[in-house]
Amino acid sequence: MTLFAGKTALVTGGSRGIGRAICLELAAGGATVLVNYQRSGEAAAAVVAEIAAHGGEASALQADVSDEAQVAQLFKQARALAGGLDILVNNAGMTRDNVIMMMKPTDFDDVLATNLRSCWLCCKAAARLMMRKRSGSIVNITSVVGIAGNGGQTNYAASKAGIIGLTKSLAKELAVRGVRVNALAPGFVDTDMTASLSPEHKQSALAAIPLGRLGAPEDIANAVAFLASDQAAYITGQTLVVDGGMVM
Ligand code: NAP
Repeated sequence: MTLFAGKTALVTGGSRGIGRAICLELAAGGATVLVNYQRSGEAAAAVVAEIAAHGGEASALQADVSDEAQVAQLFKQARALAGGLDILVNNAGMTRDNVIMMMKPTDFDDVLATNLRSCWLCCKAAARLMMRKRSGSIVNITSVVGIAGNGGQTNYAASKAGIIGLTKSLAKELAVRGVRVNALAPGFVDTDMTASLSPEHKQSALAAIPLGRLGAPEDIANAVAFLASDQAAYITGQTLVVDGGMVM
């Protein structure tokens, strides 16, 4: 309960799936959690209510994090509510899969904007607050697809590989200011994002996971909490793979 006592965390895309689990885990550690969402206002309110029911503090903040003006407004609200920011988790993401011959340029642009541009915009806004405090931890959610690639996901893989490069570069920039920046690469996690995949696709993914099960959002949230905490005080610029052994 004391790991994050007195700390404020902002989680983008905190309304559902992995982001929701991260919000609950950081709140369980004592953080005040700012739950960003884009469209799922009711789900975000439910996350806030669940945190409050366990004695924690949280607020839901609506913003499309791919939009510069909305990110500026989001961080203004975060400052007004909490005074500063100790932890940022860039989790918001989307897929729009297709083979390259069928993929439209807008499918590429939209996925890059939601997954990578949002991460850059939020890192920049958070860096401003964290550098002032000379402390902070940023965790960027990438994917094993950004490391290993995946047919049908040229847009998504590019966005997630980009997050890894962004993370390493920013870690080098901010280390001297006491701010750590790491990435976390989930494998195949059971959420809305993967719900629409065919049973055959899920079965073949499962066959490639040595630990023999799909990931749960809580598996990812536990590892994010570690990277965000002082237990990872000597870790920066790294990509932690959490995938049941799928990509080694
Ligand atoms: P999900 O269930 O589809 O949830 C996506 C979340 O992102 C939602 O909370 C959604 O908010 C939010 N979001 C999307 N676009 C946004 C925007 N422009 N601004 C603000 N929020 C936005 O996805 P998930 O499976 O939990 O994935 C979470 C992250 O993990 C993503 O970055 C994903 O790429 C990554 N990941 C997932 C897997 C997996 O197997 N599931 C594997 C590797 C990596 P609203 O609903 O409020 O719009």
